[in-house]
Amino acid sequence: MKFRAEGHAVVVGAGPAGLFAARALADVFGRVTVVERDDSADGHRRGVPQSGHAHDFLIRGHQIAEQWFPGIGEEMVAGGAHAGDIGRDLRWVIAGRPLVKGESGLSTVVSSRGFRERHLRARVEALPQVTVVGGQDVAGLSFSGDGSVVDGVLLGSDGSRKLSADLVVDASGRGSRTPVWLEEHGHGRVEEEKLKVDVGYATRIVRAPADAFAGDVGINVVASPDSPRGGACQRVEGDRVVVTLYGVLGDHPPTDAEGFNSFAKSLAAPDIYRILEVAEPLSEPRRYRFPASLRRHYERMGSFPRGLLVLGDAVCSLNPRYGQGMAFSAMQALALHDHLREEGEAPQPDAYFRRLAEQAVDPVWGMTLLSDLSFPGVQGERTPETLQVLELVGRTQVAATLDGSLALSCLRVFGLLDPPTALLDPAVQKRVHETLSRQPA
Ligand SMILES: Cc1cc2nc3c(=O)[nH]c(=O)nc-3n(C[C@H](O)[C@H](O)[C@H](O)COP(=O)(O)OP(=O)(O)OC[C@H]3O[C@@H](n4cnc5c(N)ncnc54)[C@H](O)[C@@H]3O)c2cc1C
Repeated sequence: MKFRAEGHAVVVGAGPAGLFAARALADVFGRVTVVERDDSADGHRRGVPQSGHAHDFLIRGHQIAEQWFPGIGEEMVAGGAHAGDIGRDLRWVIAGRPLVKGESGLSTVVSSRGFRERHLRARVEALPQVTVVGGQDVAGLSFSGDGSVVDGVLLGSDGSRKLSADLVVDASGRGSRTPVWLEEHGHGRVEEEKLKVDVGYATRIVRAPADAFAGDVGINVVASPDSPRGGACQRVEGDRVVVTLYGVLGDHPPTDAEGFNSFAKSLAAPDIYRILEVAEPLSEPRRYRFPASLRRHYERMGSFPRGLLVLGDAVCSLNPRYGQGMAFSAMQALALHDHLREEGEAPQPDAYFRRLAEQAVDPVWGMTLLSDLSFPGVQGERTPETLQVLELVGRTQVAATLDGSLALSCLRVFGLLDPPTALLDPAVQKRVHETLSRQPA
Protein backbone atom coordinates (compact mmCIF):
# COMPACT_ATOMS: atom_id res chain seq x y z
CA MET A 1 0.00 0.00 0.00
CA LYS A 2 1.40 3.41 -0.97
CA PHE A 3 1.94 5.63 2.07
CA ARG A 4 2.13 9.41 1.72
CA ALA A 5 3.60 11.03 4.80
CA GLU A 6 2.32 14.49 3.89
CA GLY A 7 -1.22 13.29 3.07
CA HIS A 8 -4.01 14.40 5.41
CA ALA A 9 -7.36 12.65 5.78
CA VAL A 10 -10.24 13.98 7.90
CA VAL A 11 -12.91 11.68 9.30
CA VAL A 12 -16.22 13.18 10.44
CA GLY A 13 -17.51 11.32 13.51
CA ALA A 14 -15.79 9.12 16.10
CA GLY A 15 -18.44 6.39 16.25
CA PRO A 16 -17.47 2.83 15.30
CA ALA A 17 -17.46 3.64 11.57
CA GLY A 18 -15.24 6.69 12.05
CA LEU A 19 -12.83 4.80 14.31
CA PHE A 20 -12.50 1.83 11.96
CA ALA A 21 -12.14 4.22 9.02
CA ALA A 22 -9.33 6.07 10.83
CA ARG A 23 -7.51 2.77 11.28
CA ALA A 24 -7.85 2.01 7.56
CA LEU A 25 -6.70 5.50 6.56
CA ALA A 26 -3.67 5.42 8.86
CA ASP A 27 -2.06 2.86 6.52
CA VAL A 28 -2.09 5.39 3.70
CA PHE A 29 -2.13 8.93 5.12
CA GLY A 30 0.62 10.42 7.24
CA ARG A 31 -1.99 12.40 9.18
CA VAL A 32 -5.56 11.44 10.02
CA THR A 33 -7.79 13.79 12.03
CA VAL A 34 -11.06 12.47 13.41
CA VAL A 35 -13.45 15.32 14.20
CA GLU A 36 -16.19 14.47 16.70
CA ARG A 37 -19.01 16.74 17.83
CA ASP A 38 -19.27 15.32 21.36
CA ASP A 39 -16.45 16.36 23.60
CA SER A 40 -16.54 13.37 25.86
CA ALA A 41 -15.26 9.92 24.93
CA ASP A 42 -17.88 8.51 27.30
CA GLY A 43 -20.00 5.98 25.47
CA HIS A 44 -23.32 7.53 26.43
CA ARG A 45 -22.97 10.55 24.23
CA ARG A 46 -25.61 12.98 23.02
CA GLY A 47 -24.68 12.21 19.41
CA VAL A 48 -25.35 8.50 19.96
CA PRO A 49 -28.64 8.20 21.82
CA GLN A 50 -28.79 4.46 21.07
CA SER A 51 -25.61 3.74 23.00
CA GLY A 52 -27.34 2.80 26.26
CA HIS A 53 -29.18 -0.11 24.60
CA ALA A 54 -27.76 -3.62 24.31
CA HIS A 55 -25.19 -3.74 21.53
CA ASP A 56 -24.07 -7.11 20.16
CA PHE A 57 -20.76 -7.08 18.36
CA LEU A 58 -21.12 -9.77 15.75
CA ILE A 59 -18.26 -12.21 15.29
CA ARG A 60 -17.28 -10.74 11.90
CA GLY A 61 -16.76 -7.37 13.55
CA HIS A 62 -14.83 -8.94 16.41
CA GLN A 63 -12.49 -10.63 13.92
CA ILE A 64 -11.83 -7.38 12.02
CA ALA A 65 -11.25 -5.53 15.30
CA GLU A 66 -8.71 -8.17 16.38
CA GLN A 67 -6.99 -8.03 13.01
CA TRP A 68 -6.57 -4.25 13.24
CA PHE A 69 -6.13 -3.92 17.00
CA PRO A 70 -4.56 -7.21 18.12
CA GLY A 71 -5.38 -8.09 21.71
CA ILE A 72 -8.25 -5.58 22.04
CA GLY A 73 -10.63 -8.34 23.18
CA GLU A 74 -8.26 -9.43 25.95
CA GLU A 75 -7.87 -5.83 27.07
CA MET A 76 -11.62 -5.47 27.29
CA VAL A 77 -11.92 -8.67 29.31
CA ALA A 78 -9.19 -7.39 31.66
CA GLY A 79 -11.37 -4.29 32.08
CA GLY A 80 -14.41 -6.32 33.08
CA ALA A 81 -16.09 -7.40 29.80
CA HIS A 82 -17.05 -11.04 29.28
CA ALA A 83 -15.50 -13.40 26.74
CA GLY A 84 -17.53 -16.23 25.30
CA ASP A 85 -17.72 -18.77 22.51
CA ILE A 86 -20.66 -17.79 20.27
CA GLY A 87 -21.94 -21.37 20.09
CA ARG A 88 -21.41 -22.34 23.71
CA ASP A 89 -21.75 -19.22 25.85
CA LEU A 90 -24.42 -17.18 24.06
CA ARG A 91 -27.98 -18.41 24.37
CA TRP A 92 -30.08 -17.93 21.25
CA VAL A 93 -33.79 -18.60 21.46
CA ILE A 94 -35.70 -18.73 18.21
CA ALA A 95 -39.46 -19.22 17.98
CA GLY A 96 -39.42 -20.02 21.70
CA ARG A 97 -36.77 -22.77 21.54
CA PRO A 98 -33.03 -22.51 22.20
CA LEU A 99 -30.56 -23.23 19.42
CA VAL A 100 -28.54 -26.34 20.20
CA LYS A 101 -25.37 -25.27 21.97
CA GLY A 102 -21.85 -26.42 21.21
CA GLU A 103 -18.34 -25.07 21.00
CA SER A 104 -17.84 -23.18 17.75
CA GLY A 105 -14.21 -22.14 18.15
CA LEU A 106 -15.40 -18.57 17.53
CA SER A 107 -14.80 -16.43 20.55
CA THR A 108 -16.20 -12.95 21.09
CA VAL A 109 -16.41 -10.33 23.84
CA VAL A 110 -19.66 -8.99 25.28
CA SER A 111 -19.72 -5.45 26.66
CA SER A 112 -21.74 -2.27 26.61
CA ARG A 113 -21.51 -0.19 23.47
CA GLY A 114 -19.82 2.68 25.30
CA PHE A 115 -17.12 0.47 26.80
CA ARG A 116 -16.31 -1.04 23.39
CA GLU A 117 -16.21 2.37 21.77
CA ARG A 118 -13.85 3.70 24.44
CA HIS A 119 -11.47 0.80 23.84
CA LEU A 120 -11.59 1.23 20.06
CA ARG A 121 -11.01 4.94 20.46
CA ALA A 122 -8.04 4.44 22.78
CA ARG A 123 -6.46 2.10 20.22
CA VAL A 124 -7.07 4.59 17.40
CA GLU A 125 -5.69 7.46 19.48
CA ALA A 126 -2.56 5.41 20.11
CA LEU A 127 -1.79 5.35 16.37
CA PRO A 128 0.92 7.97 15.77
CA GLN A 129 -0.76 9.22 12.58
CA VAL A 130 -4.17 9.79 14.17
CA THR A 131 -5.56 12.66 16.25
CA VAL A 132 -9.11 12.59 17.58
CA VAL A 133 -10.51 16.06 18.17
CA GLY A 134 -13.63 16.19 20.37
CA GLY A 135 -16.13 19.00 20.83
CA GLN A 136 -15.92 20.17 17.20
CA ASP A 137 -18.93 20.27 14.95
CA VAL A 138 -18.39 19.84 11.22
CA ALA A 139 -20.78 22.47 9.88
CA GLY A 140 -20.09 21.83 6.21
CA LEU A 141 -17.72 20.58 3.56
CA SER A 142 -15.31 22.87 1.75
CA PHE A 143 -15.87 22.57 -2.01
CA SER A 144 -13.70 23.91 -4.81
CA GLY A 145 -15.27 26.76 -6.83
CA ASP A 146 -16.95 24.45 -9.36
CA GLY A 147 -18.03 21.97 -6.66
CA SER A 148 -16.11 19.08 -8.22
CA VAL A 149 -13.63 18.60 -5.34
CA VAL A 150 -13.97 18.52 -1.55
CA ASP A 151 -10.78 19.90 -0.04
CA GLY A 152 -11.62 20.00 3.66
CA VAL A 153 -14.30 20.49 6.29
CA LEU A 154 -15.73 23.65 7.82
CA LEU A 155 -15.69 23.86 11.60
CA GLY A 156 -17.49 25.99 14.16
CA SER A 157 -21.16 26.86 14.41
CA ASP A 158 -20.88 29.25 11.45
CA GLY A 159 -18.47 27.03 9.48
CA SER A 160 -15.90 29.83 9.42
CA ARG A 161 -12.82 27.70 10.15
CA LYS A 162 -11.51 25.42 7.44
CA LEU A 163 -9.59 22.24 8.14
CA SER A 164 -7.93 21.30 4.83
CA ALA A 165 -7.75 17.67 3.77
CA ASP A 166 -6.72 15.57 0.82
CA LEU A 167 -9.61 13.26 1.67
CA VAL A 168 -12.72 13.67 3.83
CA VAL A 169 -14.54 10.55 5.03
CA ASP A 170 -18.04 11.17 6.37
CA ALA A 171 -18.83 8.72 9.18
CA SER A 172 -21.29 10.99 10.96
CA GLY A 173 -24.04 8.40 11.25
CA ARG A 174 -27.61 8.23 10.02
CA GLY A 175 -28.12 11.99 10.42
CA SER A 176 -25.26 12.72 7.96
CA ARG A 177 -25.74 16.02 6.13
CA THR A 178 -23.73 14.94 3.08
CA PRO A 179 -26.91 14.42 1.00
CA VAL A 180 -27.88 18.07 1.56
CA TRP A 181 -24.36 19.42 0.98
CA LEU A 182 -24.01 17.46 -2.26
CA GLU A 183 -27.31 18.77 -3.52
CA GLU A 184 -26.38 22.35 -2.62
CA HIS A 185 -23.23 21.98 -4.72
CA GLY A 186 -24.92 20.70 -7.84
CA HIS A 187 -24.47 16.94 -7.49
CA GLY A 188 -28.16 16.11 -7.13
CA ARG A 189 -29.80 14.19 -4.31
CA VAL A 190 -28.67 10.71 -3.39
CA GLU A 191 -31.39 8.09 -3.88
CA GLU A 192 -32.68 6.74 -0.57
CA GLU A 193 -34.32 3.38 -0.01
CA LYS A 194 -36.32 2.78 3.17
CA LEU A 195 -38.00 -0.19 4.74
CA LYS A 196 -40.47 0.77 7.45
CA VAL A 197 -40.14 -1.50 10.49
CA ASP A 198 -41.16 0.79 13.38
CA VAL A 199 -39.08 -0.99 16.01
CA GLY A 200 -39.36 0.23 19.60
CA TYR A 201 -36.67 -0.47 22.20
CA ALA A 202 -36.72 -0.17 25.97
CA THR A 203 -33.62 -0.85 28.06
CA ARG A 204 -32.94 -1.17 31.72
CA ILE A 205 -29.63 -1.74 33.48
CA VAL A 206 -29.84 -4.25 36.33
CA ARG A 207 -27.61 -6.27 38.63
CA ALA A 208 -28.27 -10.01 38.60
CA PRO A 209 -26.54 -12.98 40.20
CA ALA A 210 -24.08 -14.57 37.76
CA ASP A 211 -25.59 -18.01 38.34
CA ALA A 212 -28.90 -16.76 36.91
CA PHE A 213 -27.20 -17.00 33.51
CA ALA A 214 -26.17 -20.65 33.93
CA GLY A 215 -22.71 -19.86 32.58
CA ASP A 216 -23.88 -17.83 29.59
CA VAL A 217 -22.66 -14.33 28.83
CA GLY A 218 -25.70 -13.24 26.90
CA ILE A 219 -29.22 -14.26 25.96
CA ASN A 220 -31.00 -13.34 22.73
CA VAL A 221 -34.69 -14.11 22.47
CA VAL A 222 -35.24 -13.44 18.80
CA ALA A 223 -38.51 -11.99 17.52
CA SER A 224 -40.13 -14.11 14.85
CA PRO A 225 -43.30 -13.69 12.77
CA ASP A 226 -45.20 -15.90 15.24
CA SER A 227 -43.89 -14.02 18.24
CA PRO A 228 -42.83 -10.55 17.09
CA ARG A 229 -41.38 -9.42 20.41
CA GLY A 230 -37.78 -10.00 21.38
CA GLY A 231 -35.05 -9.06 23.77
CA ALA A 232 -31.38 -9.24 24.60
CA CYS A 233 -29.81 -9.60 28.00
CA GLN A 234 -26.07 -9.10 28.25
CA ARG A 235 -23.59 -9.40 31.09
CA VAL A 236 -21.37 -6.37 30.71
CA GLU A 237 -18.46 -4.72 32.48
CA GLY A 238 -18.95 -3.39 35.99
CA ASP A 239 -20.88 -6.49 37.00
CA ARG A 240 -23.99 -5.09 35.35
CA VAL A 241 -26.58 -6.55 33.01
CA VAL A 242 -28.15 -4.68 30.09
CA VAL A 243 -31.72 -5.82 29.45
CA THR A 244 -33.19 -4.61 26.17
CA LEU A 245 -36.69 -5.46 24.99
CA TYR A 246 -38.08 -4.65 21.58
CA GLY A 247 -41.20 -4.97 19.49
CA VAL A 248 -41.80 -4.33 15.81
CA LEU A 249 -44.42 -2.47 13.81
CA GLY A 250 -45.55 -0.25 16.66
CA ASP A 251 -45.79 -2.95 19.33
CA HIS A 252 -43.27 -1.19 21.58
CA PRO A 253 -42.24 -2.14 25.14
CA PRO A 254 -43.43 0.20 27.90
CA THR A 255 -40.97 2.09 30.06
CA ASP A 256 -42.70 1.78 33.42
CA ALA A 257 -41.27 -1.00 35.59
CA GLU A 258 -44.41 -3.10 35.64
CA GLY A 259 -45.07 -2.78 31.91
CA PHE A 260 -41.42 -3.53 31.17
CA ASN A 261 -41.55 -6.77 33.17
CA SER A 262 -44.90 -7.80 31.66
CA PHE A 263 -43.48 -7.28 28.18
CA ALA A 264 -40.49 -9.47 29.10
CA LYS A 265 -42.91 -12.11 30.37
CA SER A 266 -44.78 -12.06 27.05
CA LEU A 267 -41.72 -13.08 24.97
CA ALA A 268 -41.76 -16.51 23.36
CA ALA A 269 -39.38 -17.83 26.05
CA PRO A 270 -39.10 -16.94 29.75
CA ASP A 271 -35.28 -16.64 29.83
CA ILE A 272 -35.10 -12.84 30.10
CA TYR A 273 -38.05 -12.54 32.46
CA ARG A 274 -36.34 -15.03 34.79
CA ILE A 275 -33.32 -12.74 34.97
CA LEU A 276 -35.54 -9.76 35.76
CA GLU A 277 -37.25 -11.72 38.52
CA VAL A 278 -33.97 -12.01 40.45
CA ALA A 279 -32.44 -8.69 39.37
CA GLU A 280 -31.92 -5.44 41.21
CA PRO A 281 -32.75 -2.49 38.92
CA LEU A 282 -29.97 0.07 38.54
CA SER A 283 -31.75 2.38 36.10
CA GLU A 284 -35.21 3.23 34.85
CA PRO A 285 -36.11 1.78 31.44
CA ARG A 286 -35.18 4.08 28.55
CA ARG A 287 -36.78 4.00 25.14
CA TYR A 288 -35.60 4.35 21.57
CA ARG A 289 -37.68 4.31 18.43
CA PHE A 290 -36.29 3.22 15.08
CA PRO A 291 -38.73 3.95 12.24
CA ALA A 292 -37.09 2.44 9.17
CA SER A 293 -33.97 0.85 7.76
CA LEU A 294 -32.35 3.35 5.41
CA ARG A 295 -29.91 2.92 2.55
CA ARG A 296 -28.34 5.75 0.57
CA HIS A 297 -27.34 4.61 -2.90
CA TYR A 298 -24.21 6.70 -3.43
CA GLU A 299 -23.06 4.08 -5.94
CA ARG A 300 -25.92 5.21 -8.22
CA MET A 301 -25.02 8.93 -8.26
CA GLY A 302 -24.10 10.34 -11.65
CA SER A 303 -21.96 13.09 -10.14
CA PHE A 304 -19.88 13.00 -6.96
CA PRO A 305 -16.98 15.21 -5.87
CA ARG A 306 -13.44 13.90 -5.60
CA GLY A 307 -11.93 14.05 -2.14
CA LEU A 308 -15.03 12.76 -0.32
CA LEU A 309 -16.18 9.28 0.72
CA VAL A 310 -18.93 8.12 3.09
CA LEU A 311 -19.35 5.03 5.25
CA GLY A 312 -21.16 3.51 8.25
CA ASP A 313 -24.72 4.43 9.17
CA ALA A 314 -24.30 7.50 6.97
CA VAL A 315 -24.58 5.07 4.04
CA CYS A 316 -26.81 2.38 5.49
CA SER A 317 -28.60 2.21 8.82
CA LEU A 318 -30.06 -1.22 9.54
CA ASN A 319 -32.91 -2.48 11.67
CA PRO A 320 -31.06 -2.64 15.02
CA ARG A 321 -32.66 -5.86 16.19
CA TYR A 322 -30.15 -7.87 14.14
CA GLY A 323 -27.27 -6.25 16.04
CA GLN A 324 -25.25 -5.71 12.87
CA GLY A 325 -24.39 -1.99 12.78
CA MET A 326 -20.93 -1.97 14.37
CA ALA A 327 -19.69 -5.14 12.64
CA PHE A 328 -21.12 -3.72 9.42
CA SER A 329 -19.11 -0.52 10.00
CA ALA A 330 -15.97 -2.62 10.36
CA MET A 331 -16.78 -4.46 7.10
CA GLN A 332 -17.25 -1.13 5.34
CA ALA A 333 -13.94 0.15 6.67
CA LEU A 334 -12.33 -3.01 5.31
CA ALA A 335 -13.81 -2.16 1.89
CA LEU A 336 -12.30 1.32 2.26
CA HIS A 337 -8.95 -0.24 3.13
CA ASP A 338 -9.12 -2.56 0.11
CA HIS A 339 -9.97 0.38 -2.12
CA LEU A 340 -7.08 2.46 -0.75
CA ARG A 341 -4.75 -0.46 -1.33
CA GLU A 342 -5.59 -0.19 -5.03
CA GLU A 343 -5.86 3.56 -5.41
CA GLY A 344 -3.45 4.88 -2.76
CA GLU A 345 -4.18 8.28 -1.31
CA ALA A 346 -6.35 9.39 -4.25
CA PRO A 347 -9.47 7.25 -4.04
CA GLN A 348 -12.02 7.22 -6.84
CA PRO A 349 -15.51 7.75 -5.40
CA ASP A 350 -17.39 5.76 -8.05
CA ALA A 351 -15.06 2.74 -7.74
CA TYR A 352 -15.15 3.03 -3.93
CA PHE A 353 -18.94 3.14 -3.70
CA ARG A 354 -19.23 0.22 -6.14
CA ARG A 355 -16.86 -1.81 -4.01
CA LEU A 356 -18.60 -0.74 -0.80
CA ALA A 357 -21.94 -1.88 -2.22
CA GLU A 358 -20.67 -5.21 -3.55
CA GLN A 359 -18.37 -6.14 -0.68
CA ALA A 360 -20.39 -4.95 2.31
CA VAL A 361 -23.69 -3.19 1.79
CA ASP A 362 -25.52 -5.37 -0.77
CA PRO A 363 -25.12 -8.64 1.18
CA VAL A 364 -25.99 -7.22 4.60
CA TRP A 365 -28.82 -5.00 3.37
CA GLY A 366 -30.24 -7.96 1.43
CA MET A 367 -30.08 -10.15 4.52
CA THR A 368 -31.81 -7.58 6.72
CA LEU A 369 -34.54 -6.97 4.16
CA LEU A 370 -35.15 -10.67 3.82
CA SER A 371 -35.49 -11.11 7.58
CA ASP A 372 -37.81 -8.11 7.86
CA LEU A 373 -39.99 -9.39 5.04
CA SER A 374 -40.64 -12.56 7.04
CA PHE A 375 -42.96 -10.34 9.14
CA PRO A 376 -46.24 -10.17 7.23
CA GLY A 377 -46.95 -6.57 8.37
CA VAL A 378 -43.75 -5.20 6.82
CA GLN A 379 -44.54 -3.57 3.47
CA GLY A 380 -42.30 -4.73 0.63
CA GLU A 381 -42.16 -6.84 -2.47
CA ARG A 382 -42.19 -10.58 -1.89
CA THR A 383 -41.39 -12.47 -5.08
CA PRO A 384 -42.07 -16.23 -5.23
CA GLU A 385 -38.30 -16.67 -4.86
CA THR A 386 -38.26 -14.51 -1.70
CA LEU A 387 -41.07 -16.56 -0.21
CA GLN A 388 -39.26 -19.79 -0.99
CA VAL A 389 -36.03 -18.55 0.60
CA LEU A 390 -37.93 -17.37 3.68
CA GLU A 391 -39.55 -20.77 3.99
CA LEU A 392 -36.20 -22.59 3.75
CA VAL A 393 -34.43 -20.24 6.15
CA GLY A 394 -37.33 -20.51 8.62
CA ARG A 395 -37.20 -24.32 8.49
CA THR A 396 -33.42 -24.24 8.94
CA GLN A 397 -33.76 -22.14 12.08
CA VAL A 398 -36.32 -24.54 13.52
CA ALA A 399 -34.01 -27.46 12.70
CA ALA A 400 -31.15 -25.56 14.38
CA THR A 401 -33.02 -25.91 17.68
CA LEU A 402 -32.58 -29.70 17.24
CA ASP A 403 -29.19 -30.09 15.58
CA GLY A 404 -25.83 -28.59 16.63
CA SER A 405 -24.28 -28.47 13.17
CA LEU A 406 -27.26 -26.53 11.81
CA ALA A 407 -27.15 -24.22 14.83
CA LEU A 408 -23.54 -23.37 13.97
CA SER A 409 -24.48 -22.74 10.32
CA CYS A 410 -27.15 -20.28 11.52
CA LEU A 411 -24.77 -18.58 13.95
CA ARG A 412 -22.20 -18.05 11.20
CA VAL A 413 -24.89 -16.32 9.12
CA PHE A 414 -26.18 -14.22 12.07
CA GLY A 415 -22.54 -13.28 12.78
CA LEU A 416 -21.99 -12.07 9.18
CA LEU A 417 -19.30 -14.68 8.54
CA ASP A 418 -21.39 -16.42 5.86
CA PRO A 419 -24.13 -15.09 3.58
CA PRO A 420 -27.70 -16.35 4.13
CA THR A 421 -27.34 -18.39 0.92
CA ALA A 422 -25.04 -20.69 2.94
CA LEU A 423 -28.23 -21.99 4.55
CA LEU A 424 -29.64 -22.92 1.14
CA ASP A 425 -26.70 -25.20 0.35
CA PRO A 426 -28.07 -28.64 -0.67
CA ALA A 427 -26.06 -30.43 2.07
CA VAL A 428 -27.49 -28.07 4.71
CA GLN A 429 -31.02 -28.46 3.38
CA LYS A 430 -30.66 -32.27 3.31
CA ARG A 431 -29.71 -32.14 7.00
CA VAL A 432 -32.65 -29.83 7.72
CA HIS A 433 -34.99 -32.27 6.01
CA GLU A 434 -33.58 -35.27 7.88
CA THR A 435 -33.65 -33.44 11.22
CA LEU A 436 -37.24 -32.29 10.86
CA SER A 437 -38.50 -35.61 9.51
CA ARG A 438 -37.22 -37.36 12.65
CA GLN A 439 -39.63 -35.21 14.66
CA PRO A 440 -43.03 -36.59 15.56
CA ALA A 441 -45.74 -34.97 13.38
C1 LIG B 1 -31.58 1.02 19.43
C2 LIG B 1 -30.38 0.56 18.66
C3 LIG B 1 -29.76 -0.62 18.97
C4 LIG B 1 -28.65 -1.04 18.25
N1 LIG B 1 -28.07 -2.24 18.54
C5 LIG B 1 -26.95 -2.60 17.88
C6 LIG B 1 -26.28 -3.81 18.19
O1 LIG B 1 -26.74 -4.62 19.01
N2 LIG B 1 -25.13 -4.08 17.54
C7 LIG B 1 -24.61 -3.26 16.59
O2 LIG B 1 -23.55 -3.56 16.05
N3 LIG B 1 -25.25 -2.14 16.23
C8 LIG B 1 -26.39 -1.79 16.85
N4 LIG B 1 -27.02 -0.64 16.50
C9 LIG B 1 -26.48 0.15 15.39
C10 LIG B 1 -25.27 0.94 15.81
O3 LIG B 1 -25.55 1.77 16.90
C11 LIG B 1 -24.83 1.78 14.62
O4 LIG B 1 -24.89 1.04 13.44
C12 LIG B 1 -23.43 2.22 14.81
O5 LIG B 1 -23.34 3.08 15.89
C13 LIG B 1 -23.00 2.95 13.53
O6 LIG B 1 -21.93 3.65 13.74
P1 LIG B 1 -21.57 5.00 12.97
O7 LIG B 1 -20.20 5.25 13.44
O8 LIG B 1 -21.84 4.89 11.52
O9 LIG B 1 -22.59 6.09 13.50
P2 LIG B 1 -22.79 6.70 15.01
O10 LIG B 1 -22.52 5.65 16.01
O11 LIG B 1 -24.10 7.35 14.95
O12 LIG B 1 -21.62 7.74 15.12
C14 LIG B 1 -21.61 8.96 14.41
C15 LIG B 1 -20.75 9.94 15.17
O13 LIG B 1 -20.63 11.13 14.41
C16 LIG B 1 -20.74 12.25 15.26
N5 LIG B 1 -21.21 13.37 14.44
C17 LIG B 1 -22.42 13.47 13.83
N6 LIG B 1 -22.48 14.62 13.12
C18 LIG B 1 -21.30 15.24 13.32
C19 LIG B 1 -20.78 16.47 12.85
N7 LIG B 1 -21.47 17.27 12.02
N8 LIG B 1 -19.53 16.84 13.24
C20 LIG B 1 -18.80 16.03 14.05
N9 LIG B 1 -19.26 14.85 14.52
C21 LIG B 1 -20.49 14.45 14.15
C22 LIG B 1 -21.74 11.81 16.33
O14 LIG B 1 -21.60 12.57 17.52
C23 LIG B 1 -21.33 10.35 16.51
O15 LIG B 1 -20.34 10.19 17.50
C24 LIG B 1 -28.16 -0.23 17.20
C25 LIG B 1 -28.79 0.97 16.87
C26 LIG B 1 -29.90 1.34 17.57
C27 LIG B 1 -30.60 2.60 17.14
